[in-house]
Amino acid sequence: MSRTPRQKPGDYSENGVATRLVHAGRGPGYAEGVVNPPVWRASTILFDTLADLDAAIKAPDDGLYYGRRGTPTQWALENALTALEPGAAGTKLYPSGVAAITTSLLAVVKAGDHVLITDSAYEPSRQFGDQLLKRMGVEVGYFDPLVAGGIDALIRPETSAILLESPGSLSFEIQDVPAITAVARARGVVTMIDNTWGTPLRLQPLALGCDISIQALTKYVGGHSDLMMGSATATPALWPRLKAATYRLGHSASADDAALALRGLRTLSLRLDRQEASALAVARWLQDQPAVDRVWHPALASHPGHALWQRDFSGATGLFSFVLKRGRRADTAALIDSLAHFGIGFSWGGYESLALPVELTGIRTATDTPLPGPIIRLSIGLEDPDDLIADLDAGLARYEAQF
Ligand SMILES: *Cc1c(COP(=O)(O)O)cnc(C)c1O
Repeated sequence: MSRTPRQKPGDYSENGVATRLVHAGRGPGYAEGVVNPPVWRASTILFDTLADLDAAIKAPDDGLYYGRRGTPTQWALENALTALEPGAAGTKLYPSGVAAITTSLLAVVKAGDHVLITDSAYEPSRQFGDQLLKRMGVEVGYFDPLVAGGIDALIRPETSAILLESPGSLSFEIQDVPAITAVARARGVVTMIDNTWGTPLRLQPLALGCDISIQALTKYVGGHSDLMMGSATATPALWPRLKAATYRLGHSASADDAALALRGLRTLSLRLDRQEASALAVARWLQDQPAVDRVWHPALASHPGHALWQRDFSGATGLFSFVLKRGRRADTAALIDSLAHFGIGFSWGGYESLALPVELTGIRTATDTPLPGPIIRLSIGLEDPDDLIADLDAGLARYEAQF
């Protein structure tokens, strides 16, 4: 029995993204004739002889070695994600999106360093900076997501990494990614971006100068609200450090979950197109409602980041927020408790719609956005948009009736 080799990411640069989603991480070498890579559940890998074991020890990443280093199921997903980002050397998987973010930071920083994080970052990213990184002797500063080239003034000699997130997943500021990465490259600072909203189908961060592109696969790639996983995709320059940190921290994503994520990936293009169209229909409708102060959706011409979004993104997805004109968080129960088509819950990117009251208070330190009323974040699913709009229409009527 010869050692099962690790496949290399294919070159699909001639193909459109929908075709890549169908072919990447699949075919000869991944499965003996069946369409999908089978689920390889493994811890121990057996070697026939001492000579075979010794050959594997010399090149542990060339094929099956030990479960934590992955099996053809995880490699298929890693290779497919790598094939989606031109300029990528490789992808690592994590048990959650947060683990992908924290490991990317740990791959780069050391005691005494300074790290810059966008003020619009996902809250657990901030907590990691404020608590764990701080405890390790790393200083963390937050910057206005709209800083653009002004980031230059915030970089110090000991700054080693900048964490971006565009758009922010509560307030949807669009960052000038190329302006920030150009300054960072010139100053020798590594940039990493949380690209969960855009996915590589809507934003290609490595092409815009980022060194590491991160996704919570839990959201759109999974797409069915039934798995937790993260990924980080790196340039050739960052790949060795990312790979080593991931291995040393002991991360392992299960083959069962990788197979689910691969299944999600095959339909990602279709789902995103539909969720983008429905979300835009809902956002446009909300924009005209008297109870609504503003809608934070970058594809609306009224959005302050619209021009940047048009320049850098190839489309939108299904997550956005709106701000009510009056009331407080507790009042939003009248709106959301009786919605027929929106669940109340964390996460997003699934086939089912969600509505969640969110707050910026307490999780912003570099910026201040005074608002007249509470914020509701919507994750638009695959339902008929007319049903979603009718549901929200009744919800807004209930909301207004209480004042
Ligand atoms: C959910 C989310 C994450 C974290 O993903 P988990 O898989 O829940 O750990 C990171 N970034 C953004 C923007 C998210 O919405």
